[in-house]
Amino acid sequence: MPTTDTPPPALRPYLTAAHEQLWAEAEEFAADHVARRVSRMEAAPRKLERELPRLMSARGWFGVTIPEQYGGMAAGHVAKTVLIHRVGVVSAAVAAILQATLIPVGALCHWGTVEQKQRWLPKVAGGTVLMSIAVTEPDAGGHIGGIQTVAELAGDEWVITGEKIHIGNVHLAGLHVVVARTAPPGVSASQALTAFLVENQREGLGKGMHRARLGLHGFSAGRLILDRVRIPAANVLGEVGQGMDVAQSASVLYGRPNLTAVSLGIHEALVETTAQFLSSRPRYGGYLSEHPVIQDRLGEMQGRFQTALTTAYGAVHLLDNRVACDHLLVGAKLTGHQLAAQSARDAMELHGARALDGDCELQRFFRDIQHTYSPAGTGEFQRIHLARTALGTGPRQWSEHFASEAAWSQPTPDPAPA
Ligand SMILES: Cc1cc2nc3c(=O)[nH]c(=O)nc-3n(C[C@H](O)[C@H](O)[C@H](O)COP(=O)(O)OP(=O)(O)OC[C@H]3O[C@@H](n4cnc5c(N)ncnc54)[C@H](O)[C@@H]3O)c2cc1C
Repeated sequence: MPTTDTPPPALRPYLTAAHEQLWAEAEEFAADHVARRVSRMEAAPRKLERELPRLMSARGWFGVTIPEQYGGMAAGHVAKTVLIHRVGVVSAAVAAILQATLIPVGALCHWGTVEQKQRWLPKVAGGTVLMSIAVTEPDAGGHIGGIQTVAELAGDEWVITGEKIHIGNVHLAGLHVVVARTAPPGVSASQALTAFLVENQREGLGKGMHRARLGLHGFSAGRLILDRVRIPAANVLGEVGQGMDVAQSASVLYGRPNLTAVSLGIHEALVETTAQFLSSRPRYGGYLSEHPVIQDRLGEMQGRFQTALTTAYGAVHLLDNRVACDHLLVGAKLTGHQLAAQSARDAMELHGARALDGDCELQRFFRDIQHTYSPAGTGEFQRIHLARTALGTGPRQWSEHFASEAAWSQPTPDPAPA
């Protein structure tokens, strides 16, 4: 399935004419601006990419789920997936930059006061401010209840002290959603945490140096250090004690589908690159692609990709249509990563020793796919969620909880005629 500026027919049930237009825009952007920068980004893993986020900001893409009244596109979750997926086929790192800010944007849309939304959302939609969400800590990864960053009330200000790690876009963001402990030991985690909006210029806020990582070169996921950072009480996001809800709802409704879309982009690139290689590698007077054993493996890859594609779009289509679908978002993230990781291994093997040459592009996809396992819940946490769904003891459905809120993005209009 070669890259095309028209979506595959399998997506017709989920895409409107507006989605198709966005698809074409994202393809054009990736071809004109991203493709020529990929090798430079790959060659400089210690360097942050700043120009491409600026160009995406100028297109209003960080406002894809922001309501129109705040200057956003109000285009919804399918549209968000289209952007991340299509950019991700060309560069997962650039797709990661886009998705990392769209998670805290979702948190602000759902949990922010009118004043907070009026102050910040137009800036994000207009591209002058990017956001990060800072939950993970050195000793508290998937275990949100183990967060040690503390926020204490001093008069009418909160004073926050702690350290966050692996924070996506930490070096680009001007506003951070920081989750901290606000209750004494013994209070249940579901009531002990609070989310805060912390501006970049606050005294005591620091960042670790951008460090090279295995993949996603150009994307920063680094340290945020809070040394007695003082912020006004008006910067509490949601209610005091609702920090876990803010973090989990943003992770389920935005983080998981965003990472699903990144995996999908990498998966598509893997299939395309492998099909091209096999079709051009001579063997016995023909090409490797003509051999049944090879076709069997390539067919597996294509089948996995198709499954991941329809699973990803089907889940966000339901989200746009206000259907309770948390378990489908979780399942799409889990299988989207797993299937792409299996295809990455097949692709490496099908390229033989060529896969190991320093200049083989496939290595980028193989490294990048490792980065979609842990964010927005590792595989273990997705499976725990799904097991609870099977047992009928599943957690609250955030998709259902927010379905009737005014902050929700526009529902998907009628699908385009086939
Ligand atoms: C590309 C990328 C972007 C990221 N962006 C952000 C971001 O923007 N903001 C942010 O806050 N964080 C971010 N993260 C961090 C990410 O959320 C964490 O990696 C994730 O929560 C897991 O935490 P951990 O890596 O510390 O692993 P740990 O929690 O230490 O887990 C290690 C292993 O043990 C397993 N495990 C742990 N506890 C259990 C359990 N109870 N039962 C079964 N298995 C368990 C895990 O599944 C995992 O396999 C990002 C990470 C990456 C790679």
